[in-house]
Amino acid sequence: QADNLLYKRVLLKISGEALMGPGQFGIHQETVDRIADQIKEGLALGVELSLVIGGGNIFRGLSMAENGMERASADYMGMLATVMNALAMQNALESIGVHTRVMSAIEMTSVCEPYIRRRALRHMEKGRVVIFAAGTGNPFFTTDTTAALRAAEMGCDAVMKGTQVDGVYSADPKKDPSAQRFDELSYMDVLKRDLRVMDQAAISLTRENHIPIVVFSLGSEDGVVGALTGRGKYTIIK
Ligand code: UDP
Repeated sequence: QADNLLYKRVLLKISGEALMGPGQFGIHQETVDRIADQIKEGLALGVELSLVIGGGNIFRGLSMAENGMERASADYMGMLATVMNALAMQNALESIGVHTRVMSAIEMTSVCEPYIRRRALRHMEKGRVVIFAAGTGNPFFTTDTTAALRAAEMGCDAVMKGTQVDGVYSADPKKDPSAQRFDELSYMDVLKRDLRVMDQAAISLTRENHIPIVVFSLGSEDGVVGALTGRGKYTIIK
């Protein structure tokens, strides 16, 4: 089985919106459970996996700041939203027998562990899924940047970005039917063409650390396994 695996250690980034399912807001339990199943299937291949989950389904700092709230305060609220999503995902994974640890960049020791790099590495070596919560712990950053940062810290071989579509397009394929899909891109292509895959800070970090980004759809049944084995449909940025 393990010889099908393209990567030994992976960071999976899931946006908050991916947890909304058919809803417009919040956490859709069935959708969270489906993603948890996909993660469990991926783990069965023998990969070491960690997760960064966004918070956009609950709270986005920037949009509150545009309505007049101080940006830093709004961003702290956004980071707290990612902790809720992390706990929801932890619960779904544990209920199907996957061992997990939530590690928060903002200490809240009665809820989860604080983020300590060497401890996170140890958890992963033991086969536990580490869920990184509260982003980087700093306002003015995003969970995309968090994903790139933690992937570099953990020595991950890839960042996998689970989205609603099966890769990177030249425009939003849901709005523009003429949008072109890419199988492979360079980091520079993404930066120069301003393709909305991950923000520029995240692209720069992955580029400097030579970590490929695999963009795939969480909507397809074998999304995670397909991206881990190369059998699925995805765009690779390297
Ligand atoms: N955030 C932050 N610092 C970080 C990560 C996240 O301030 O290191 C805040 C920011 O306000 C952001 C919110 O948390 O809008 C939710 O994260 P994000 O928008 O990246 O979530 P996603 O789009 O992946 O759902």
